[in-house]
Amino acid sequence: MQVLRSVCPYDCPDACGLLVHIDNGKAAKVEGDPEHPFTRGTLCPKMAHYERSVHSPRRIMTPLLRNGCKGSGEFTPVSWEEAIERIKTKWENIIAKYGAEAILPYSYAGTMGLVQRNVGHPFFYSLGASQLDRTICSPAKSYGWEAVMGQTMAPHTNEIHSSDLIVLWGIHALATNIHILHDINIAKQKGAKVWLIDTYETPTAQIADQVIVVRPGTDGALALGMMHVIARENLIDADFVNTYVQGYEELKNTVLPEYSPAAVSEITGLPAGVIEDMARQYAKAKAPFIRLGSGLSRYSNGAMTVRTITCLPALVGAWSKSGGGLLAGTTTGGALNTSKITREDFRETATRLVNMNQLGNALNCKIRQS
Ligand code: SF4
Repeated sequence: MQVLRSVCPYDCPDACGLLVHIDNGKAAKVEGDPEHPFTRGTLCPKMAHYERSVHSPRRIMTPLLRNGCKGSGEFTPVSWEEAIERIKTKWENIIAKYGAEAILPYSYAGTMGLVQRNVGHPFFYSLGASQLDRTICSPAKSYGWEAVMGQTMAPHTNEIHSSDLIVLWGIHALATNIHILHDINIAKQKGAKVWLIDTYETPTAQIADQVIVVRPGTDGALALGMMHVIARENLIDADFVNTYVQGYEELKNTVLPEYSPAAVSEITGLPAGVIEDMARQYAKAKAPFIRLGSGLSRYSNGAMTVRTITCLPALVGAWSKSGGGLLAGTTTGGALNTSKITREDFRETATRLVNMNQLGNALNCKIRQS
């Protein structure tokens, strides 16, 4: 049996190293590569038996032509040549009648890495199609982070080894960030405490010393309540704040009158005493480290929630301490110049931009963005 090195093809920032066992030209087994420095031989269940997906008889291997009503599930397999010819004819008619902007590519990622998810862009740019503003998943979180941190890169997960308080905030790490568990275990062996803040008690609670359950969409208010206590009791790192932080006085003038533990208790459902304790423990930790999840960024206040929580490490100077800080995501995709894949320079004229969250409005022609 031959063993080949590969990498997980999914849209997942961890990019697990794979060892693929080949038997008679077919993938027979997939396992984690123990020499991969970050993923360390651990795969999530999606990839642990990927050979079953690759060789599954249920895979769709040809284009399917719908021949019944929508939703009826009636399809006929057709050749690639026929599918392409049908699309070409239909699109030529659309373009002749309405112009190329009547065509909108609608896609995101999920099972695709950076190349696969972007490689269709040059075609649609050259066609002059409408553009899709891909807002559905991660942009709100990115805006929240960038509002505080600009283009600062996220800290390495090795930092966690030196932390004495790890806050898993809105992340079910056992399911969605398994590799960080290696780092958390190293810190725990040195005595670190782990908090889980979430809207319900996920199985990640089993690795946490304390579980804090908040009402959905109120994580930002919890952060403001903690800031109130930190400001009121002067638990800030004054040197760090004076040197590196902008807007602390304005923040203080908001959180002191408006976000007392009693007020935040009403919003979050947490007892005021718990909020006070959390603030003090967080501020007095030697090197508190927040691992921020993504679900909390998908409410209508998502970007502001991320922005607010991202302010916490600055107030207590956690960034200046080895093991302290905040990790919002492990992706390093931003380091790649994706314009070489997307080729926006193929676009010859300005075309409208449609927010994918407002597709219904766009189809009804009620919005026109540019
Ligand atoms: S955690 Fe799972 S989906 Fe993510 S890179 Fe690893 S195997 Fe792929």
